[in-house]
Amino acid sequence: MTAAPACVDNPVETLRAALEPHGLFLRGTVSFATGEAAPMLKSGDPAASVALIGNIGGSIWEPFTRWLEGERDRRGADPLDNWSKQVILPAAEAAGATAYFPSDPPWQPFQQWAMRAEGLKASPLGILIHPRYGLWHGYRGALGFDRALPQTSSVTAGHPCDDCRGKPCISACPVDALRTGMFDLGRCRTHLKKQAGALGCLVDGCLSRDACPIGQGYRYSMEQLRFHMAALGL
Ligand code: SF4
Ligand code: SF4
Repeated sequence: MTAAPACVDNPVETLRAALEPHGLFLRGTVSFATGEAAPMLKSGDPAASVALIGNIGGSIWEPFTRWLEGERDRRGADPLDNWSKQVILPAAEAAGATAYFPSDPPWQPFQQWAMRAEGLKASPLGILIHPRYGLWHGYRGALGFDRALPQTSSVTAGHPCDDCRGKPCISACPVDALRTGMFDLGRCRTHLKKQAGALGCLVDGCLSRDACPIGQGYRYSMEQLRFHMAALGL
């Protein structure tokens, strides 16, 4: 087993300090019981815990676009994934941890980890909804450790969708992709490939996401919304 660097007395604070300038946050931690399924560390041992890293609202947009401007020739096909790795891998090294990314195999259960770490549940869109940030947040990576980490998240409010009157996200979708209670990805994508979708959601962002009243203050900018929709590659 590879020991963590001796200087890493407090990996949580080390991580926070490394991530903050990039608009990334330590979203929460999950510790695994002995024998529980856990991701593998670089050492080949199962992780004892993971720390989830992500954005809150548009927190990464300014640092990311600044990087993008300076990386015109090296941004690659998936610039946000590339940027995430350039920021998170050095943080992992400094904290003596192994990094995992939603974009890379072996695929890790990011959504399950997030549900455990922050007590979140899925919205009708399938995206996890946060009581404060609503649907305007995301996970860019996770770090695995060889020891348990302290609990860092304190989400105690209930699931916003349970008390949502009228559930406007459902009626806002022009093709009823949320109507059955299970997000119909195929129906959504088919619409986006047609002229109405190309001139609507692909330009303005998902109308269902925008209709949610929770966390409107954390809504992404139009520029960021268009970037994410373009990244779908439709
Ligand atoms: S509009 Fe209501 S049901 Fe839909 S995601 Fe927001 S809180 Fe949940
Ligand atoms: S992107 Fe448009 S079609 Fe797809 S779920 Fe959102 S509102 Fe519906």
